Amino acid sequence: MGEARNYQAELVGLFGTPVAENPSVVMQEAGFRALGLNWRYITIEVLPEDLEDAIIGMRAFRMRGANLTMPHKTSVLQYLDEVATDAQIMGAVNTVVRKENRLVGENTDGKGFLTALRREGGIDPAGKRIALLGAGGAARAIAVELALAGAAHIIVVNRTEKRGAALVDIVNKHTKTKASLVPWKATYKVPSDVDVLVNATSIGFSPDVNARPDLAFDTITENMIVCDVVPNPPQTPFLKEARKRGARTLDGQGMIVYQGAIGFKLWTGREAPVEVMKEALEKTMRS
Ligand code: NDP
Repeated sequence: MGEARNYQAELVGLFGTPVAENPSVVMQEAGFRALGLNWRYITIEVLPEDLEDAIIGMRAFRMRGANLTMPHKTSVLQYLDEVATDAQIMGAVNTVVRKENRLVGENTDGKGFLTALRREGGIDPAGKRIALLGAGGAARAIAVELALAGAAHIIVVNRTEKRGAALVDIVNKHTKTKASLVPWKATYKVPSDVDVLVNATSIGFSPDVNARPDLAFDTITENMIVCDVVPNPPQTPFLKEARKRGARTLDGQGMIVYQGAIGFKLWTGREAPVEVMKEALEKTMRS
């Protein structure tokens, strides 16, 4: 007699709407295959009014975890047993991890950005001056993690003043980093002492891939590292302008791969095969 067979896979998944075009499944399943894990990542359309039932179902299926995307990142908090400090500060969860019978909320978006900044950009945000374009979900996650990692100053540049002010308040209230607001009413000039400039708006995201933020591009210098969160297409007009000024650049694919890799480790307890996941994502985005 051989060993007993196990046809029962461990389950994780993605809840959101719309979700059909979200490529996380390709990246995560490539990671599971590379490590020989009998795990599945299932992309599931969940309407806002069904989120509570979806979380109950997740408990019933004893799923190991899930990712949350639009429009659930904030509303899911009320259904969880515990929420990590950074995710509480942001008020948003993109990853749920089951620990025994408890569902714990985490946010890996900003941590993914920071990992890309450290590993691919080669810089530590501690003590750095940041100019951050945008104050939506991605910007919030990035600002909070940069602040918790010891950034000296974050300038939030946002079109809607109220939303920008809310992010500045979050950083000033919950972290030691100083944040200030620049309402984005005219072409933004990047101060010369900025170390890291981040586009965390959706400008440049498909379908309007030729759009560029309203910036005085000649204020970007070669001393800056310039980052975009837009994952597809990764070579945005914003990054092309920055490269023309000699700045080092980081595209949004690093952030997406590392946020997934951090989730992979939280669920499986195994170090994620980052290169395999990255290649799978790039391949699917190209096709
Ligand atoms: P939100 O809708 O929450 O926020 C959008 C932000 O962009 C707001 O600050 C908004 O300003 C600003 N904005 C949009 N259009 C303009 C414009 N024409 N001029 C000035 N400001 C503008 O979106 P998210 O934060 O969730 O997503 C933002 C981007 O981040 C998307 O491209 C998304 O794909 C990307 N993303 C990437 C991730 C990754 O892993 N690489 C992870 C998560 C998101 P206002 O407040 O004035 O409306």
